[in-house]
Amino acid sequence: MMGDRDFRTIIQSALGSIGKELQLDIDPKNIQTIHLQEVVQCLRRSYFDRIDPVEIERRGFNELLSGLLRKLEYGSEPKEFQIDDIKLKGQTDMMVDDAIMIFRSAQGELENPIANDVLYLNSCLWIYDKTEGIIVYITADKKETTFSLTRNKKMFEEVIRRVRVLNNLLKEQKVPILEPSTECSECQYYEKCFMKKKNSKHVDIGEMLGLGKLGKND
Ligand code: SF4
Repeated sequence: MMGDRDFRTIIQSALGSIGKELQLDIDPKNIQTIHLQEVVQCLRRSYFDRIDPVEIERRGFNELLSGLLRKLEYGSEPKEFQIDDIKLKGQTDMMVDDAIMIFRSAQGELENPIANDVLYLNSCLWIYDKTEGIIVYITADKKETTFSLTRNKKMFEEVIRRVRVLNNLLKEQKVPILEPSTECSECQYYEKCFMKKKNSKHVDIGEMLGLGKLGKND
């Protein structure tokens, strides 16, 4: 806090507004169009984002990078891939000489690309009908790590399966099951899925998993 002004709140609100400008424009009612980002992340999170959304708290400009590049449409317009009566809509960050490129922020240099990003890039290769793609990770101190990928059919079939699952669950208004992963710790629905982030004296595992209260001898 400096003088009477809380600069942290001002920056937080600026990040929030820019983030809103850059985020994907998803029509929650149009369940026949599923966005690629929705199926490479946790399906439960995507479901809540459509049905009962909670705003995400943004931490820095670095994580807005991909949205900014998409918005500027560096050689890539959003494209759709038809799966029966469902459209899978994706957009790459950049296209250079027939190679698809996506950019992501990272906390530090990575040994391997993050699974969600591999699924995203691989799906873009099928949606844009290209064979080679690159993921570029950029850290806050401007270090880059690059991974290349050749398209893989099995991996794309898994994404198609997830598109169908999300479409069905949205149709039936059924909340998808938990998909515990490292994504959870940053997720705005953590408390909805697990528990309050504050330390708690007692956690009933049975209740958390929907099995009812567990007694001492269970
Ligand atoms: S906390 Fe984890 S399981 Fe729950 S919606 Fe978020 S990412 Fe999915």
